[in-house]
Amino acid sequence: MTDKTRYQLDESDMPTSWYNIIPDLPVAPSPPLHPKTGEPVGPADLAPLFATELLKQEMSGESFIEIPEEVQSVYRTYRPSPLIRAKALEKVLGLPAGVKIFYKYEGVSPAGSHKPNTAIPQAFYNKQEGIKRISTETGAGQWGSAMSIACALYGMECTVYMVGISYDQKPYRRLLMETYGAEVISSPSKRTEAGRHVLGLDPDSLGSLGIAISEAVEDAAGRDDTHYCLGSVLNHVCLHQTIIGEEAILQMELAQAEPDVVVACVGGGSNFAGIAFPYYRRNTQGKSKARLLAVEPKACPTLTAGEYRYDLGDEAGMTPQMLMYTLGHDFVPAGIHAGGLRYHGDSPLVSLLVKEGKAEAVAVHQKACFDAAVMFARSEGILPAPESSHAIRAAIDEALAAREAGQDRTILFNLSGHGHFDLTAYEAYLNGQLQDYDFAAGSMCEGE
Ligand SMILES: *Cc1c(COP(=O)(O)O)cnc(C)c1O
Repeated sequence: MTDKTRYQLDESDMPTSWYNIIPDLPVAPSPPLHPKTGEPVGPADLAPLFATELLKQEMSGESFIEIPEEVQSVYRTYRPSPLIRAKALEKVLGLPAGVKIFYKYEGVSPAGSHKPNTAIPQAFYNKQEGIKRISTETGAGQWGSAMSIACALYGMECTVYMVGISYDQKPYRRLLMETYGAEVISSPSKRTEAGRHVLGLDPDSLGSLGIAISEAVEDAAGRDDTHYCLGSVLNHVCLHQTIIGEEAILQMELAQAEPDVVVACVGGGSNFAGIAFPYYRRNTQGKSKARLLAVEPKACPTLTAGEYRYDLGDEAGMTPQMLMYTLGHDFVPAGIHAGGLRYHGDSPLVSLLVKEGKAEAVAVHQKACFDAAVMFARSEGILPAPESSHAIRAAIDEALAAREAGQDRTILFNLSGHGHFDLTAYEAYLNGQLQDYDFAAGSMCEGE
């Protein structure tokens, strides 16, 4: 065990392959099903929307997939990301020497979160296959910014359907996307059949992620030069995020420490997959015994209170049905500030790990998360994204539980992003205006 604070890899030590968990799973994943017919969906059904290479990765049986040189060179502008021992936080918590907290920091990317890890290869493979334009949706704006940056870097056009209420309430994320050259459209819009339908029923609709997905998919389906990209949930997205865990394994080796628990927040599951899947492999190889802990909001407790069954990925039924934990595709979570965690389903791969007892899940309230986030900001100096604060809360709870039990414990969590665009959420916290929501009491307000 060394006593450094920051465990930094040289850029030449960055891993050059992503890890595909599929061949190592205890049971084979179940195929996606057509939203209407219920028949298994094959690559041919999805080819109008996705790059061939991404569809291959979606169903791949290879354990490691080489990261293309052109993607590696963009990754190297912000990777390897740092792994930091949270010494100041440990001190504030009064932890004994045997209880240690490390975090992997993904806020160093140009979008300020882990999302460029997949936006960059998605743009690259589409460009390589002759696609000139990407359409996608965004809720709070984190995914839209990542995709806008990736498209700018590869010289592609990008159209982002942004949930109407966020478009009005979150001008900075929108301006960031526009600065990178993306076209940002308030959803529902008059551009698409789906948007016109919703506006016909309710001209003042505030929009929802489900409607925005329907618009982006319809846009891509209608043009040969355009494909659709998704920022979480799908297998190839989880694959791309494993660069996080592959780096973390090397950095924890530098620290001469092995985590007893690996923690990340879960919205659609991609940053959890990113840090946890490589540790799952390490567990199956007998090299570690890390518990893998997924943290979700009490207001949207998919893994802890949802059902494991086939469900649609969006409200409108444009996307395939997937076998996953779900609260039901028509579930509208309360308007908590962690907009990126307000999704009714979860990655089928992450769901399968939880179902098979290979990963654990816990749900936490938002006020307790902001308590943890502010404690973290005041000790470690980084202002966390509201989503990431869920991982911090659980990491602190793990540390305190170990201290109470008189046990040693090494905790590694993923700090998925910074909160520089989320200061209105901190304002609400500091003014004592934050509310906690329980699943059973889930209100019907959709506002990220
Ligand atoms: C989007 C987002 C999340 C949630 O998405 P996952 O796919 O579950 O990782 C978490 N943290 C940040 C900072 C995000 O932008």
